[in-house]
Amino acid sequence: MQKVLLLLFAAWLLFACQQKEDKSDYDPAHDYFSFANSRQFLTRHLELDLTVDFEQQVLSGHAIHHMQQLDPEATTIVLDSRGLQIHEIQLELPGTEAINLKFEPGANDPVRGEPLKISLPENFAAMDEFLLKINYQTGPDASALMWLPPEHTAGGQHPFMFTQSQSIHARSWVPLQDSPSVRFTFDATIHTPPGLLALMSADNDPLTPRSGEYRFSMPQAIPSYLLALAVGNVFFESFGPETGVYAEAEVLQAAAYEVADTQARLDAAVEIYGPYLWGRYDLLILPPSFPYGGMENPRLSFITPSVLAGDRSLVSLIAHELAHSWSGNLVSNATWRDIWLNEGTTSYLEARLMEVLYGQERADEERVLTYQSMREALATVPPDMQALAPVFTEGDPDIGQDGLEYSKGQLLLQHLEALFGREVFDTYMAGYFSYFEFQAIGSEQWLDYIDRNLLQKHPGTFSRAQLEEWLYQPGIPADATVPVSGNLEQADAMARSWSSGELVVADLPHTDWSPQATVYFINALPTELNEAQLSELDAALGLSSSSNAEIARAWFIQVAERQHQPAFSQMKSYLGRYGRTRLVQPVYERLVANGEDQELAQAIFDKVSAGYHPITRAAIEPALTLSNIACASSWSSPFATSLSYTGCTRRVRP
Ligand SMILES: [Zn+2]
Repeated sequence: MQKVLLLLFAAWLLFACQQKEDKSDYDPAHDYFSFANSRQFLTRHLELDLTVDFEQQVLSGHAIHHMQQLDPEATTIVLDSRGLQIHEIQLELPGTEAINLKFEPGANDPVRGEPLKISLPENFAAMDEFLLKINYQTGPDASALMWLPPEHTAGGQHPFMFTQSQSIHARSWVPLQDSPSVRFTFDATIHTPPGLLALMSADNDPLTPRSGEYRFSMPQAIPSYLLALAVGNVFFESFGPETGVYAEAEVLQAAAYEVADTQARLDAAVEIYGPYLWGRYDLLILPPSFPYGGMENPRLSFITPSVLAGDRSLVSLIAHELAHSWSGNLVSNATWRDIWLNEGTTSYLEARLMEVLYGQERADEERVLTYQSMREALATVPPDMQALAPVFTEGDPDIGQDGLEYSKGQLLLQHLEALFGREVFDTYMAGYFSYFEFQAIGSEQWLDYIDRNLLQKHPGTFSRAQLEEWLYQPGIPADATVPVSGNLEQADAMARSWSSGELVVADLPHTDWSPQATVYFINALPTELNEAQLSELDAALGLSSSSNAEIARAWFIQVAERQHQPAFSQMKSYLGRYGRTRLVQPVYERLVANGEDQELAQAIFDKVSAGYHPITRAAIEPALTLSNIACASSWSSPFATSLSYTGCTRRVRP
């Protein structure tokens, strides 16, 4: 497994570090990460009937596609699959016996999986809709599935499983057209061991009896990356007419406290961006191995337990997942090259919602931290992947642009808001969501729409050519509106005053700082600090023992980069405590990059990675090899020289 991943990663590095080949035949509307021939056949509706087998760690049953033939000449249906064991495929036509179809799994591609080619009968005639029934089970290494033994849950008594379909992992648990451009409705029946509860990105009923058989319906069409299932011993707590949280009993009260503002956040979003079109909005707090901060599965966002800081200081992540109900879930990216339309827009909305609920200073602090992460990404992402809408035909959609699709996209929309004024821009955004609702669009459609509906209505403010610079050029245009935060500037000044000896630790007003200011202070520490200074700081601010995951992350990045050995044992505990990729991956990378601790990084990984999700393991494994961490210093970035670390392995979904 590891060898395959390393080879894969080497191939990606080659792609990232070298000039790309001729792209003159590049089609921005084509999904280069799906085998499905969705321009010839299209799934409109999906029926799933799956049994969750914790012992074998497989899902088995059937998927029925309600398909439409778009090309009357086409006789082969191609679906995406990865490692699936296909038992039988049948064509079902109204009023006739089911017909067994010939099928053939194509060659495996390490990133995209295998095309599943299904031959239709020779006399097959085009019609409005036909049914394609596939009996199958998942493979042993399904990349979307995380199977947790009881000891990796909070309760320790029952197993837990959950899916992560984004970017292109849905094909590892359902044979389907795994492209964000294809939207379908679905019904599902899920069979589980007795007593456990199944939840999906569908019409979950908090009062459903725990019968072991659960039926779901999703009447709004969604792309495959939003198809989601979780099964565990979870319970529900309501905090509003349309909102509530599911979690294991052991964390339910803490979760309910932390995310209690969800209904208010939903109301604020509706006020600015228009109606919430999905019915209920609930959260599911997952065990620590959930690889991301959150996953915006419609009606039921999946959330990392690392947001449970006890003081609601990390709930911008909830605002982010909720905002996806408009940006991403309602208006999706047509291909993975357009992911900024999803994540950049959502990051912009997230900051707006934080501002409504927690005030401008808090929102500005988070905007500045995002801007800081963008500067770091610009130092490591190859120039041709710095465009918001890059030429993206190879590699892995999970790697993306190292977060630039979030931060640079957010910065563009903040810039537009500053230029056109909030009122005008809010009206434009609400109109945009309404115009494209339940559709997938590409960057060029976005460009045409904003040109017609914002730029031309307010001539002389911003030009189409200026927008194209953001979309197609690397770096950031010189006139970009840069966010500022007085609190963070103060924390930055304190870092310098303390390290130069002007201030002693006791004079640092850290108890008045927000967690965001503490993170900024840690990030601003100069390189020349000695071990005694770092230890003194750690003791005074309680950094190594912080229960705030973002403060701990910022600190242990410094600990690994500076080889601050007195904090190594707490760093090891931290790496075993969290499974979220964003929290653990950069610490491993810094350990390897410091030139001394590669073996230590490998040893820690070997010890704790059984608790990591396959996506997290796949992200870290290549970074454990030193040669994979230094591809970047040769490309030009305006910020490259200001950072002590350059690399090209980091990639995160916040
Ligand atoms: Zn997101």
